[in-house]
Amino acid sequence: MRKHCHCGQMMNLGFRLVIFEGIYEIDRVPIYECEDCSYYEVLPEVKSDLTDMLSELKKKQPNGRVYFTEMNELADLIFGIYRQWNRTESASFESLLEQQCEERINLLLDLYGGAKNIGDLEWMNEISKRLSQLSKYVKNRQLS
Ligand SMILES: [Zn+2]
Repeated sequence: MRKHCHCGQMMNLGFRLVIFEGIYEIDRVPIYECEDCSYYEVLPEVKSDLTDMLSELKKKQPNGRVYFTEMNELADLIFGIYRQWNRTESASFESLLEQQCEERINLLLDLYGGAKNIGDLEWMNEISKRLSQLSKYVKNRQLS
């Protein structure tokens, strides 16, 4: 996944450990980086989820490092492709991601149905939070 930097160069997507306020460590955060001007930014589709996660962390006592990919469905999918994908593959990174997003959404919808059947509200909330992380990306793709 690549994106233009304001300096005109292409930025590459990578995963980094981010430390907030010197205390809160969130690892495997998807970040666009520019090698030319050292500019970097968090993947826009997960920015608000990262902020949410940080405020959740602040409510608890910080105890070590947490993984963003464990809390965020989109970051999890991107991380999986990022580790396995190589440039000689015929499918593009984006089309693989789109395909996996659809599969994950279907899986989560099935789970949601199961949670609804047994009336587990907490689980239903957790699943719809994860669904919205994916649908944000899918919606942006359809608009562009
Ligand atoms: Zn740049």
